[in-house]
Amino acid sequence: MVNFLIFGPPGSGKGTQSVKLAEKFNLVHLSTGDMLRAEIAAGTELGKKMSTIMAKGELVPDEVVIEMIAARIDKTKGSAGFLFDGFPRTVAQTIALEKMLNVRGMKIDSMLVLDVDHDELVNRLIMRAEQSGRPDDKDPAVIENRIDVYKSKTEPIINYCSQKGLYQPVNGMGTIDDIFVRLSDNMKKFV
Ligand code: ADP
Repeated sequence: MVNFLIFGPPGSGKGTQSVKLAEKFNLVHLSTGDMLRAEIAAGTELGKKMSTIMAKGELVPDEVVIEMIAARIDKTKGSAGFLFDGFPRTVAQTIALEKMLNVRGMKIDSMLVLDVDHDELVNRLIMRAEQSGRPDDKDPAVIENRIDVYKSKTEPIINYCSQKGLYQPVNGMGTIDDIFVRLSDNMKKFV
């Protein structure tokens, strides 16, 4: 099994690229953002609680997403590994993920980090809001908050993973196809 983290600020293209990469490399795509939105759409108690946090652009509690991932991690039949998208988002989540993988004889093999200019991120999210209707994409103040939260709580994971030799920076500017080729070329080194 080869396990990848796809990483980058909101609007960096993680979700778009993950769907394509999971198909190409036969990976299980696990997106905590998608799982949380599914809870909201299903109207569960958890979804109701989390939706206010998400609409503000804050992170939901670590235990919530760790539990969601733990519930999915044994469902991997026939796949080549995992592609974790939007998880981990804190160093505590990273350590929890390492433990979960470890007890199953796996590890994080590579961390792909998409680099995108700040103005481009904001433009992409505002454009996405028109199609997705996501409340956290509509409000410029919420977008800025998500980018700030990324910098303060999520970016420290880069340093943590760099020390383990996992950091793979990838240029996230350009067309979807260009970025897909860059990511694929990088991932080929690990599969
Ligand atoms: P984006 O990468 O565009 O910000 P996501 O779909 O990954 O979007 O996440 C949307 C929201 O869901 C986040 O802003 C956050 O509130 C919540 N969320 C998703 N994943 C996590 C996580 N691993 N830890 C905490 N909160 C999360």
